[in-house]
Amino acid sequence: MRKPTRRREVGRGERVLPGVWRLRLPLPWPGVPHCNAWALAAGDGVVLVDTGMHEPGSMAHLERALDQAGLRAEHIRQIVCTHAHVDHCGQAPPLRERTGAELWMHPDHGHLVASLADPERALGQRVEVARQSGVPEAELQRWIAQRRASGTGLSGTLQVDRELVPGVTVATDLGDWQVVETPGHAPSHVCLHQPERRLLISGDHLLGRISLYFDYGYTPDPVGEFLHSLDAVDGLDARLCLSGHGRPFTDVSGHVSANRALVGERVRAVREALAAGPATAYEVAERVYGEALSRHTASWLLTKTLCWLRHLEVAGEATRLEPAAAGEAERWGAGAA
Ligand SMILES: [Zn+2]
Ligand SMILES: [Zn+2]
Repeated sequence: MRKPTRRREVGRGERVLPGVWRLRLPLPWPGVPHCNAWALAAGDGVVLVDTGMHEPGSMAHLERALDQAGLRAEHIRQIVCTHAHVDHCGQAPPLRERTGAELWMHPDHGHLVASLADPERALGQRVEVARQSGVPEAELQRWIAQRRASGTGLSGTLQVDRELVPGVTVATDLGDWQVVETPGHAPSHVCLHQPERRLLISGDHLLGRISLYFDYGYTPDPVGEFLHSLDAVDGLDARLCLSGHGRPFTDVSGHVSANRALVGERVRAVREALAAGPATAYEVAERVYGEALSRHTASWLLTKTLCWLRHLEVAGEATRLEPAAAGEAERWGAGAA
């Protein structure tokens, strides 16, 4: 069989329900070919939930997707972002500017703003964490070069008009959507819930293809927060989930359970990795992820590993060991301090 040539990704728009359009926007990331923005009918226009990231040509992809849905950017009356990752808010500033629409977002998006205000400082901090975690120097240098060469993914400055917190509702023709705080994947993460129609816009909190990621270093225990957020969403009894990547899916509760199971599996694997003897976070990532830890995945798998370790530390099952010499990578051991 001939290997199919890779289709160039372009923006696509499709109606998934009356008054709900999925705008599928391409991403430049390996393994994550696109993200979704959602357009919700609201009077003579739409509410846009998430925006896609900013990169050369990205606005044209969004316009193409809107066009396929019979919409134009000028129809956007309000912009709502599920969380402060650039694939979800990267085009919010120019859209806000162009349409005059308000931008609504959770207040805990400060870390993105801070890192974009001073990218070198943010990069320096991440490099420090990576070095302390035992990432080999050559790999670290390659990653730094790659980071410097790629854009930030956000165009302009995020100016939020209204804080998206519980109690705030987003009004659409389908009814009001309620804000559910779901930190874990990102501190600023929220889901939108439409109770009468049992719809959930889940951002990256719940995806059709189970894939976990947590921001590290901004909150005490991202994994614990994520588990708590799974409970919050499970209690909503939604029947259809419109997620930040991939197709809409049903069996929301089944997906919640699968996420819980995967977290349990990974935590167990990290516990076992530590049982084999003290290790740096990078070595733990190697033990847990094995072959999957490649040049393309090392950065996010290391971030996740730090979150697993932190979760076990909070539970009294992992400890940061005193380094034998100054400047040495931090090692983790099993058990409480
Ligand atoms: Zn995200
Ligand atoms: Zn995303």
